[in-house]
Amino acid sequence: MKICDLCEEQSKKTRNGKPHEYLSKVDEARIFKGDNPRGFEEQDFQCLTCQAKFTRSTDKNDLAWTLWQG
Ligand SMILES: [Zn+2]
Repeated sequence: MKICDLCEEQSKKTRNGKPHEYLSKVDEARIFKGDNPRGFEEQDFQCLTCQAKFTRSTDKNDLAWTLWQG
């Protein structure tokens, strides 16, 4: 699946990067529950142009923007 230029850029953004204008929220932010007791949030987004899916994480040890290849 080919992703659009905005998503290409999005995948390189840092934690402080905002979602691009055609990324819409899939659902509400959720608290990630893992082995690590410190809570951090995840938020799913989907691009309206190319349908690419991203998850934004506030975990310092994880990628800020994870692109899910279709
Ligand atoms: Zn896109």
